[in-house]
Amino acid sequence: MRFPLLLLFLVLILPACKSPQTSTDRPPNLVLILVDDLGYGDVGFNGCQDIPTPHIDRLAAAGVIFTNGYVSYPVCGPSRAGLITGRYQDRFGFSRNPLFAPNDPDMGLPVAEETIAEVLHKVGYKSAALGKWHLGAHESQRPLVQGFDDFFGFLTGGHRYFPKDYTLADEYEVNSQYAAYRTKLLRNETRIEETEYLTDALSREAVNYIEKYQGNPFFIYLAYNAPHAPMEATDKYLDRFPHIENKRRRTYAAMVSAVDDGVGRILDQLEALHLEENTLVVFLSDNGGPEHVNGSDNGALRGRKGDLFEGGIRVPYAMKWPGEIPAGLRYDEMVSSLDILGTMAGQQAGGNPAKNPLDGVDLLPFLKGAADGLPHNQLFWKKVDQQRHAIRRGTDKLISFQDGPQLYDLGEDIGEANNLVEQQAAKVKGLEEAWEAWNANNQDPVFLGLLQDSLYSTLHPNRFTRPND
Ligand code: CA
Repeated sequence: MRFPLLLLFLVLILPACKSPQTSTDRPPNLVLILVDDLGYGDVGFNGCQDIPTPHIDRLAAAGVIFTNGYVSYPVCGPSRAGLITGRYQDRFGFSRNPLFAPNDPDMGLPVAEETIAEVLHKVGYKSAALGKWHLGAHESQRPLVQGFDDFFGFLTGGHRYFPKDYTLADEYEVNSQYAAYRTKLLRNETRIEETEYLTDALSREAVNYIEKYQGNPFFIYLAYNAPHAPMEATDKYLDRFPHIENKRRRTYAAMVSAVDDGVGRILDQLEALHLEENTLVVFLSDNGGPEHVNGSDNGALRGRKGDLFEGGIRVPYAMKWPGEIPAGLRYDEMVSSLDILGTMAGQQAGGNPAKNPLDGVDLLPFLKGAADGLPHNQLFWKKVDQQRHAIRRGTDKLISFQDGPQLYDLGEDIGEANNLVEQQAAKVKGLEEAWEAWNANNQDPVFLGLLQDSLYSTLHPNRFTRPND
């Protein structure tokens, strides 16, 4: 009677063979979609009128819209260093926008820091970094040595969009900071030939890596360089905006629309592979819009990229995780880009796997109404070279300039038009003291930045020289 025995065997063994990848017993995947220099007012969910963003809005409608979502710095590099480590970048001296310096092991993220990918690798995740890196071009700082299993993209702070415009064979054909925008793309450590418009290529790669990794918990870090300058778009997207007369705004709209299509492809892929229920999808910009450069619009917010006014640091920010985050939620308390790692660390069954203390927190208990209090009582910003800093506590926002502080009540004055510093001297003092206490635990910058480009080149005459040349 061998057959019934086989049946018995199957009955006993099958439960043990149950896939470990069902949504109930596997930690969530993370798809982190970071866009570059997108204005606060330039998504449908923040009221944009002239650029439809149906897919970004679909993402936001399925989860939470953060109306008071901040990044930790108003330009690309330091903002990314904060986001990817869950820690204020000032903790480890990443307080400037790094230069492209492929021979310099100190020009980027210090190796003692852990990226989201490194933290999640310890608990079994596979990770891919796609698009803009900007956390160091030296071989010791690239994505594959910072916890990622795969990389497709470029190392510097921006890139040309049309393949015919980026023809430099590698980083040693670069001879100036912005020439790095013209290098061929990397797949892992190999330069490749690309044929598609860059934004479309990055969307394609995200869709493919989701498929490749679907058997594991995974993290896709999709860092579009759009809509960062140079302003370049294909007719496919430009033709959607005949009604926009301003040429810069029209090209910007086309670039945002390309990103929006990509977000749609990614959401569709998650649904097609039945991964939707167990994937946290996050969308945000790395800083506010540089309205004068790329035609972006920060809406009611004062200032732009680079500023500590709200227009520099408050960004379009939404996330969804069906079943965990209620759909249609609008959350008005302060949250930070630093909270993305905090949130993922909070979802791991064995406890927080990060070795360094995080400044970000797990947002889930707040979004589900399970936690009292606020994710953050205060948030801080520091611009070293400009000798400028800021703190927000509740609705109070203090910005300290070299010629003195300015105080605004964001609850009444989102446009930061009414400086209350004369009327509220005691409050100003308290906020300054809180900022100083926070700053006491920070490090001085560990590298020269974009503002010191020519000084750096003078000090490092072999900046772009191939080693062994
Ligand atoms: Ca940026």
